[in-house]
Amino acid sequence: MKADIVTIFPDFFRGPLDYGITRRALEMGLVEIKVHDLREFTHDRHRTVDDRPFGGGEGMVLKPEPIFDCLERMQLGPRPERLRGAAKESVVVLSAQGQRFTQKVASELAALDRVVLICGRYEGVDERVTEFLAERELSIGDYVLSGGELGAAVIIKALTRLLPGAVGNEASTRQESFTAPGDTGETGGPDSTCSSGGLLDYPHYTRPAEFRGMSVPEVLINGNHQEIRRWRREQALRKTLVNRPDLIDAVELSTGDRRILERIKS
Ligand code: SAH
Repeated sequence: MKADIVTIFPDFFRGPLDYGITRRALEMGLVEIKVHDLREFTHDRHRTVDDRPFGGGEGMVLKPEPIFDCLERMQLGPRPERLRGAAKESVVVLSAQGQRFTQKVASELAALDRVVLICGRYEGVDERVTEFLAERELSIGDYVLSGGELGAAVIIKALTRLLPGAVGNEASTRQESFTAPGDTGETGGPDSTCSSGGLLDYPHYTRPAEFRGMSVPEVLINGNHQEIRRWRREQALRKTLVNRPDLIDAVELSTGDRRILERIKS
């Protein structure tokens, strides 16, 4: 997969992409990341990337010309095809006004050949970029950051760990929080055992079994795998109900799950 990042702060990416799975994926050639310095696509002496907003108001806005110039050099396919979902490329504007970036969107993007991420700054990007150049506007959460760079790094990190071969044990990415059946390409209903089926992940423990008087749940030590699976499912349901009740409605629940939920609620 190719990832292109368009930014006025190319140095930002030196740290975040140099560690862990992203670094491994880069070294293995699973992903190729290019950072494009927007100032290189300006034509004036001051390398101006921003200008005052039409209609007045606070702050500055990223100008459209350098961004259009930068993307035109990338020789992407026609936008209508991307809009139809017929292209293996996607152009994304990072924006607090965007649709929320979720694990589902991560798997959609991870299946493409190329993802272009446009990082906004100041008050944002000239809307014509969103309207005529990109086909997705994504937000990494309901808060306002001062730039899209962190968002671009977050998206790349989430995508690279989904690329086949990036994570040592592929089954582990199927069992994680938010991962619904089908998101990772496997078929079948929610596994009421270990796969999260769209719930949050279950709690994890490691050695020592006893630490400062705090012990690991007995069920995890006794070696009864069926009981372990049941316990993990119950814990995943419990955690989701407490921390993210909004996720429950989107999950395919078994009769057993419903019974567990009733018990937890009461
Ligand atoms: N005026 C905008 C905020 C601009 S913040 C508003 O009120 O919605 C400047 C840039 O930071 C944005 O253009 C975007 O690229 C980035 N940014 C801020 N919050 C973000 C978020 N939650 N997700 C993704 N990008 C974000």
